[in-house]
Amino acid sequence: MTTTEAIRHLGSLYAFANAQEVKAVEMAIEALKRSQPTRKHKPIIRNAIKCVSCDDVIESIHRHDAKKCKCGRVGVDGGLDYLGRIGNERDFIDMGEWA
Ligand SMILES: [Zn+2]
Repeated sequence: MTTTEAIRHLGSLYAFANAQEVKAVEMAIEALKRSQPTRKHKPIIRNAIKCVSCDDVIESIHRHDAKKCKCGRVGVDGGLDYLGRIGNERDFIDMGEWA
């Protein structure tokens, strides 16, 4: 599992987690980021997806800005910190952008 996949997976847990679990997920994400200091990440400038079921385009503005589409099938989270994706990858078109 790559760091990006791990962070994406952890981000998807937000929708179902309580405050304590969210804190644990955040700490895990921070640890993952620190564990690969030499890896070059392009800064995220847009964190958005389009739901293929309802055509809703949803965008996460900040780290804890979790949003779901109109039909509730998919969601985004993480703002410009990480690309949190909720739902199945085949159910959305990724519109994330990097600098
Ligand atoms: Zn939808």
